[in-house]
Amino acid sequence: MSAPPPAVPTSAPWQRSLRRAVSRIGELCELLDLEPEELGLDEAAWRDFPLRVPRGFAARMRRGDPHDPLLLQVLPSAAELLPAPGFVADPLAERRAVKAPGLLHKFAGRVLLITTGACAVHCRYCFRRHFPYAEHRPWADGWRQALACVAGDASIREVILSGGDPLVLDDDKLAALALALADLGHVRRLRLHSRLPIVLPERVDDALLAWLSGTRLQPVVVIHANHPNEIDGGVRAALARLRSAGVALLNQAVLLRRVNDDAAVLAALSESLFAAGVLPYYLHLLDPVAGAAHFEVGETRARRLHAELAARLPGYLLPRLVREVPGAPSKVALG
Ligand SMILES: *Cc1c(COP(=O)(O)O)cnc(C)c1O
Ligand code: SF4
Repeated sequence: MSAPPPAVPTSAPWQRSLRRAVSRIGELCELLDLEPEELGLDEAAWRDFPLRVPRGFAARMRRGDPHDPLLLQVLPSAAELLPAPGFVADPLAERRAVKAPGLLHKFAGRVLLITTGACAVHCRYCFRRHFPYAEHRPWADGWRQALACVAGDASIREVILSGGDPLVLDDDKLAALALALADLGHVRRLRLHSRLPIVLPERVDDALLAWLSGTRLQPVVVIHANHPNEIDGGVRAALARLRSAGVALLNQAVLLRRVNDDAAVLAALSESLFAAGVLPYYLHLLDPVAGAAHFEVGETRARRLHAELAARLPGYLLPRLVREVPGAPSKVALG
């Protein structure tokens, strides 16, 4: 008998989709039948935070519409370079909450672990777009310091995997991390904050469901959809699989000018989410991160929109309107 062929490193279909994301403006314009001149682009805007859009997400954008609400979320616009007082690199003063490399402890009972700096999509309004990921590499030592810190604090009931986007990591790494956390008796819940179920729904495959539903920890996934057009058949199928694996599903959105600052759009988002088995959790005011001022919706207008939304929806479909205030013991509710 001949020897078996050497193992070829295989990659899951979602990893191929991740690698094939659109990263050239010219290509995005071709896909959408747009001329770069119509878009108010600036090369300097994408030099330090490049364009990145999974093809499946781009396919949900309206062709020929330079104001498409999904497109505006990813487009490196010249407006990012305008000076905006108060918009800074670290709007949440997160560096103060760091307890171990990549481990942020701001709120009682829960810690946030930065698992990677990478994302499947680059959202222009992202509050971590200037985060010094290079200084926070908890994965570099197999999360040893971060895990030791969680082990040493019995008040921690919930560990939140964040990033970047934790679901760009492969399942072996995530399963190992979940196993290590499940060993800590006081930890009850494992929460993931991820945009992948929306922007790359093929990520929700058997390998992911196996470790996520196989852990002793109660799994919660907070997805991140800002507009109802983001939720298509592929996304609904991915969410249904998560739900049938026993995962609690919540959504957080960011209130963004020209994207979703409209009570009808926000109501439609809540309705589509609930139809897909997801409860609206938070509607965040934009964090004042440098480069994102053109997305800002003022607080007065945000409160008015939220009141309009409350008048349209049952209470359980109304996301809490919140903002982050550095040093506050929780997200701060408005409205
Ligand atoms: C937002 C956040 C959390 C989670 O807050 P919840 O109100 O529980 O959703 C936890 N830790 C950090 C550092 C955060 O920024
Ligand atoms: S961390 Fe979230 S909001 Fe920021 S770029 Fe990644 S997916 Fe987008």
